[in-house]
Amino acid sequence: MTLDDPMGALAFDLLAPLRPGDAIAAGLRWLALRTDLGLVLQCTLDGRPLSIELVPRAAAHGHRVFTEQLAVGHLAGTSVREPSAGEAIAACEAVAAHVATRERDAIARARLGAARPRVRSVAGGRALHDCGDHYALSPYRGCTIGCRFCYAQSRWQPWRALLQPAGDEPWGTWVDACEDAPSCLQRELEQLPPRPIKLCPIVADPYQPIERRLRLTRLCLEVIAAASRPWPTLVLTRSDLVRDDLALLQALPRAWLGVSLPTADDEVRAHFEPRAATVAARVQLLRDAAAAGLRTFAVVQPLLPGPIDALCEALQHAHAGVAIGTLEGEQDAGPLFDAPRYRHARSDDWQRAQAQALRESLARAGVPVWHGELPPECGDP
Ligand code: SF4
Repeated sequence: MTLDDPMGALAFDLLAPLRPGDAIAAGLRWLALRTDLGLVLQCTLDGRPLSIELVPRAAAHGHRVFTEQLAVGHLAGTSVREPSAGEAIAACEAVAAHVATRERDAIARARLGAARPRVRSVAGGRALHDCGDHYALSPYRGCTIGCRFCYAQSRWQPWRALLQPAGDEPWGTWVDACEDAPSCLQRELEQLPPRPIKLCPIVADPYQPIERRLRLTRLCLEVIAAASRPWPTLVLTRSDLVRDDLALLQALPRAWLGVSLPTADDEVRAHFEPRAATVAARVQLLRDAAAAGLRTFAVVQPLLPGPIDALCEALQHAHAGVAIGTLEGEQDAGPLFDAPRYRHARSDDWQRAQAQALRESLARAGVPVWHGELPPECGDP
């Protein structure tokens, strides 16, 4: 079976006849395509790295360059050699000028049609996506755990709306399974410099329900376990399906298992995350993973109502520490925050105060709090 790569096909159609390696404009070269977060062109501008994203106009957020149906913007990177804002905007304009001549036909060809299955097998084309100090790995796009505050939907729902206008596919009802992820990963582990690999819910939980049937996350872990070099590996989840793979994680030379846990109150959890594992299940998972010798961590994002002391106690099993992040927009969760019991939790002030209270409580309990993408020591050789 030949798998589709619908987003990759759209990108190549929009950019045709250009291919990776070609110049889009003087000094601007398109090197590679990233489709795990939508459409991102990894380019260089006079030899300096520059990532340019295309999003549907409906999802434009601070973009300054537009075509008829798309917005074009550059992604902030971590390199000190980044182009200036003016240079980046000029590069976006060059991409937009090329795409504008093709987008109407390319988007019409890419329209998915209303009868597409909710679970699709696709080819992602790549497994590891370079995030500077680590690689992101996600065998799935879309997540049927379907938390309504999930900010991943802001990346994917506008594309679904643009490409499947006849369909009604709310976040949480569909998933694309990148069935080539294990084979791509096997190849990339031989070619790329080792860095930590993070399987985390930026765009999809690695242990959402479809994993029980397809086992793509497991296959990827097996590829990592069999690699000729050791690769630090992190798994972050809101599901306890990861239990099925504890032995596999234990067998990796350096593995971290983390849970996202935004509250210790299971009634609150059921209101905001009805399809995720219960609070008790996630805490028990941390305990069991730590007892099995795995490094454990936790992420609290967003902050949800519930007693801070109980949350702090639950997080004591995250021995490698806790990362805390506030609500990044309500996304589709507005009606959940409308309930009188939860209204206060949508405000930035409450989110910040709750985060501060949790930090102080964790400090008193001796649980480290970390910032950024990786727990301390994970990036160390
Ligand atoms: S489990 Fe994670 S990726 Fe899935 S919907 Fe919830 S927040 Fe989003």
